[in-house]
Amino acid sequence: MTVLANPVLSTVTSDLIRLVGVTKSYGSINVLKPVDLDIKDGEFLTILGPSGSGKTTILRMIGGFTAPTSGQILLRGTDIVSLPIFKRPFNTVFQDYALFPHMTVASNVGYGLRIRRMPADQIKAKVRAVLETVNLADKADRYPAALSGGQRQRVALARAIVCEPQVVLLDEPLAALDAELRRSMQEFLKDLQRRIRTTFVFITHDQEEAISMSDRIAVMDHGNLVQVGTPKEIYYRPKSEFVAKFFGENNLLPTITDSQGGASMIESPLGRHVSPGPKGKGFQLAIRPESFSLHDGSECKPDQQVTTAKLEGVTFLGPTTQLSLSLGAAAAHRIKVRIPTALWTNNLGVGAEVSLRWSESDISFVPRES
Ligand code: ADP
Ligand code: MG
Repeated sequence: MTVLANPVLSTVTSDLIRLVGVTKSYGSINVLKPVDLDIKDGEFLTILGPSGSGKTTILRMIGGFTAPTSGQILLRGTDIVSLPIFKRPFNTVFQDYALFPHMTVASNVGYGLRIRRMPADQIKAKVRAVLETVNLADKADRYPAALSGGQRQRVALARAIVCEPQVVLLDEPLAALDAELRRSMQEFLKDLQRRIRTTFVFITHDQEEAISMSDRIAVMDHGNLVQVGTPKEIYYRPKSEFVAKFFGENNLLPTITDSQGGASMIESPLGRHVSPGPKGKGFQLAIRPESFSLHDGSECKPDQQVTTAKLEGVTFLGPTTQLSLSLGAAAAHRIKVRIPTALWTNNLGVGAEVSLRWSESDISFVPRES
C-alpha cells in the first residue's frame, strides 16, 4: 500500500512534520522499527530514550543527513525524503556546537546568511538582533576559544536560528554542560523557543530535562517509538513497564483482575477495589511515590482507598521524606512513598504500621514485560 494514496495522510494539517512508517536499517541490522510521529507547528517536541534507542537516527533523517530505509517524511504534507539537506528549512544544533574557531562570534552567527548572499548591512543588523536574543551582544568580537561552554552553546543556537528555520533540530545540545549550567540553559532554551515560536525537536536521555522543557515527549526504546504524549500524560499514564520505570520511581505491583459486569475487581497488594482497569491477565498496577498521603483518620473521598503498610525505612530528602514500606502478610512487596517533610512529624520507626491513602485516579495499568 502506498501511503500517498491515502487521502487523509496527504491532506495538509497543522502538523508541520509527519513521519509515516519510517524505518532505518544498516545492512541487515534494523535499528528503527516503523515510526509514525506528528510534529506540530510551533511545539517543543522532545525525543527521549536511553543511549542507542534510535533518537539521533530519527533526527538525522528529519534533517536529511541520512535517508530512511522505508517510509515517508512529510513537511506540510509534501514528502521531503529526497530533498537535500540545504533545501530543507531546518537547522541543526549538535552536541559539540561545531563552531568555526578562526571566526568571531559575529562571523560564526552570520555564516549562513553570507552563504545565502544577504547584503552585508542586513547581515550585520540580523546578527546583532540574534546575539541580543541569546544575551551575547557584548561578545560579538570574541573568538570561540575565549568563551565559556554556555556561551559557546548560545552562539551555536544563535547560528541555528538566524536564518529563521521552520524547525530547529537539537541533538543532546546540553549533554556536555555541568549540572548548574545545564539547568540555566534548559530555562534559556525553553524561553527562547517560546519567544521565537519556532518548532524545536530536541533530543535528550534525561527524563527530568524532557519533563521540564517539552510540550510533548516521544519515548524511544530499542528502535521503537513506545509512547507520545504531554509530560503529564507520560508521567502519570505510562503505557508500558519500560516507560513506567524510565520515568522515575513508579511503584509496580502485581494484580489479579476479576471482571464483574462492566467494571473489574482488581486485587493487588494495595487491597481489593473496583476499577475501570484493564480486563485479563498480565497487568501491573503503577502508582507514583507522591500519589500516597498519610491517612489521618478523616473520612475518605469516594475514590480514595486506604492501605496499611509496614515501615521499613525513612530517608530525609530535604523538602520531601521518602518512606520505604512493605505490603502484604509476608511483606512480599516493597513500595516507596514520598510525602512533604513537614507532614512527617511522628516518631514512627522501622516496623511501625502506617496507614496510607491513595486515589483510584492515581493508578494506571501497564502490561507485564517478561
Ligand atoms: P541514540 O541517539 O538514541 O543514542 P542512535 O540513533 O545514534 O541512538 O543509534 C541507534 C542504533 O543505530 C544504535 O544501535 C547504533 O549503534 C546504530 N547505528 C547508528 N548509526 C549507525 C551506522 N552508521 N551504522 C551502523 N549502525 C548504526
Ligand atoms: Mg544520539
